[in-house]
Amino acid sequence: MTQGDPLDKEHSIKGKKQKIKWVNTISITAIHLLALYSIITVTPLVRWQTFLWGVFLGVAGGFGVTGGVHRLWTHRSYKAKWPLRVILAVCFSVSGQNTIFAWVRDHRVHHKFSETDADPHNAQRGFFFAHVGWLMLTKHPDVLRYGKMINMRDVMEDPVVNFHQKYFTLLKIIFCFAIPIAVPPLLWDEKWQYSALGMGVVRYVLGLNFAWLVNSAAHIWGNKPYDRRISPTENLSVAVLALGEGWHNYHHVFPWDYKAAELGRYTFNLTTGLIDLFSLLGWAYDLRAPTVEMVRRTVEERGDGSHPQWRSRTDEISEKAEDGESQNW
Ligand SMILES: [Zn+2]
Ligand SMILES: [Zn+2]
Repeated sequence: MTQGDPLDKEHSIKGKKQKIKWVNTISITAIHLLALYSIITVTPLVRWQTFLWGVFLGVAGGFGVTGGVHRLWTHRSYKAKWPLRVILAVCFSVSGQNTIFAWVRDHRVHHKFSETDADPHNAQRGFFFAHVGWLMLTKHPDVLRYGKMINMRDVMEDPVVNFHQKYFTLLKIIFCFAIPIAVPPLLWDEKWQYSALGMGVVRYVLGLNFAWLVNSAAHIWGNKPYDRRISPTENLSVAVLALGEGWHNYHHVFPWDYKAAELGRYTFNLTTGLIDLFSLLGWAYDLRAPTVEMVRRTVEERGDGSHPQWRSRTDEISEKAEDGESQNW
């Protein structure tokens, strides 16, 4: 690292030059308190149809994040025809996160400069910062500086992304709040107040936290079967809550795999199941994945020994040893 490089020690003083974004801090705190209040008081009273509607919205919004901004727009791990890209942009709006453009840029920087100050949610700064704290501060100067080096041309050339960028606020209001809140009272007579708190607050806040867990928990707790030298981990709980994005040690080693996991177990990777479903329609195509041999070599060279392939190897060895023993006997 050269002298004056923004990633050197002097510039790595944590939090230096970063200011608190008070509007974000107060609004994020307030909506979490309101969500907590609503979970206790309103959630037990909502009709079962409203609960199912919330689950549907959670999956739809989650798929917009995992199958859309993450696996498609950031990593280009598969290609999608325009009807699917429109569905993904709508689903992403349901999740109520940032613009597609900003999400992709932040995530590409995260992968390229993982665990440094140029990583927007650098997990070296602890769970809280990686989870939500980074949204309460202005960006670290390294994030801005290195973010400019990220090539975003492919994303800017996509008319669906440009449309989303142009009408971002309107789309968020319609798909994250207006429709989710209006459907239960109009279709099955739910109370407006319950719907507003249940769909507009609880469902929204839970969705955000499930996505944030990938940056926090899946960078801190779990095994590292594919690369023991990096901090991302394999975390089953996160995989379930984030529709298959918890296999994060694998994902940082093979970010271009459309499954974001080695094995296509749909139970713990709903996103892969949905992409496979759309590939049957021909709307998702050119799905990318490494060969079995490539993964096996990586596990042997860089893994921490927790991969199942080591267990079968150990079984084989012990079976042979037992055979040997019985022969001797
Ligand atoms: Zn990560
Ligand atoms: Zn990624």
